[in-house]
Amino acid sequence: MFLPEKRGKLSAMATSLKVAVIGAGVSGIIAARELQRESHQVVVFEKSHRLGGTWVYDPRFESDLLGLDPNREIIHGSLYKSLRTNLPRQLMSFTDFKLSDKTYGDERLFPGHEEVLKFLEEFAGYFELTELIRFNTVVTRVELVDSEIIEFEVESKTNGVNTVEVFDAVVICNGHNSEPRPAFDIPGIETWSKKQMHSHNYRVPEPFRDQIVVVIGNGPSALDLSREIATVAKEVHMSSRSPHVKVSKLEKFSNIWQHAKIDCINQDGIITFEDGLSIDAHIIFHCTGYKCHVPFLKTNGIVSVQEKRIGPLYKHAFPPQLAPRLSFVGLPERSLTFLIVECQSKWIAKTLSMKISLPSKDQMLRDIEEHHGDIEDDGFPKAYTHFFEIENDYIDWISAQLGTNVEKKFAEMFKYIIYCAMSGNYYDTMDLFKKKFGI
Ligand code: FAD
Repeated sequence: MFLPEKRGKLSAMATSLKVAVIGAGVSGIIAARELQRESHQVVVFEKSHRLGGTWVYDPRFESDLLGLDPNREIIHGSLYKSLRTNLPRQLMSFTDFKLSDKTYGDERLFPGHEEVLKFLEEFAGYFELTELIRFNTVVTRVELVDSEIIEFEVESKTNGVNTVEVFDAVVICNGHNSEPRPAFDIPGIETWSKKQMHSHNYRVPEPFRDQIVVVIGNGPSALDLSREIATVAKEVHMSSRSPHVKVSKLEKFSNIWQHAKIDCINQDGIITFEDGLSIDAHIIFHCTGYKCHVPFLKTNGIVSVQEKRIGPLYKHAFPPQLAPRLSFVGLPERSLTFLIVECQSKWIAKTLSMKISLPSKDQMLRDIEEHHGDIEDDGFPKAYTHFFEIENDYIDWISAQLGTNVEKKFAEMFKYIIYCAMSGNYYDTMDLFKKKFGI
């Protein structure tokens, strides 16, 4: 049986740095593994009592269901109880440690969230990463202390006790699925007096029983949750701003309708869609995604965090002025997350140990400008900066930096999933996928 190597061996030429990794979700644990493999000294800061990030189901939800109150108690997790992965287990795997080789009681091709968490725990245990993690420790400040040699102060809090330490490098893996981004650009929505909630705070369908619900969004959450709440709700009306959407009643469902964008909410509370139909709904359910949120980062304006763009970042990972000492893992959205964060982590770890070099600062800045320009030219808003359905070559590009190849079959599988989603066959993906790939 093939067993992957657990740790790296320090070669005489290698540079070993003291590196802080912030967060112990998928991104943080794979970053820790790759940094350790390159013999860096790694400390992983994790605010929760366990690893897994998103994949730790938390039945609690926030007091402000739209997540607007900055003083609310933040619940990190956004999983709902019944969630199954929206990618097959082959695509929820690392290159030498695969969920497709393992089952923990749920053998389905698209397993439940519990299976992914067990897999991540086994991964961290196998590679002896758990001992690198400081649990219950929230990072409150990462600040550039010396811009000449580049060092960072990391301030953290464990059980009320503050600690400040200096690190040579910081890898930010804090996740970007916790800070709701409700659709508040619809005329009349801010003053609508009935219930509104964001999918971040959804756990079970019961609160939607007998309700007429308008679901805003067209991504995986909107599609999954509309189907789930339709089992108890009276009517579900999905609203999408995508021009490709067909206004219709959904096949196979007696109570789900697809509409165009909401045009406005009238003073009497009636919601009018651009297709001309109007609904008197009980609940508006925002399945509209998340904002990037890095509240602890202080770089004197070198890195700015806007709603859904962190920048400037070379290839979604390095701010040119602070590269390679500051980096981000896990920003790409709607992507092959597990493979992407593994590639990014290898690239960052090897760049820190000077086995791979980056282009000059000016070249990196030019590349970023070009990328941002392309997004604009293609008519996409800034919010699409780290959105990956429109940029499929990223894994290939990083793999080339690493001198490796990623199996073509992964890209093919992912493309097929996206194709199913875009052609409106999302609900049938599992069957179509099994048929196409003979699984
Ligand atoms: P996270 O999992 O969010 O982990 C971040 C970690 O950082 C957390 O443990 C958090 O506690 C910690 N942290 C944050 N701030 C601090 C701080 N200041 N100090 C210390 N620790 C901190 N992806 C797929 O590939 N397949 C799917 O089927 C899929 N389904 C999804 C369904 C939902 C509902 C959501 C929300 C996401 C889904 N994703 C899916 C995407 C998913 O987010 C990624 O798979 C992956 O879990 C992201 O990992 P991450 O480590 O980048 O972030």
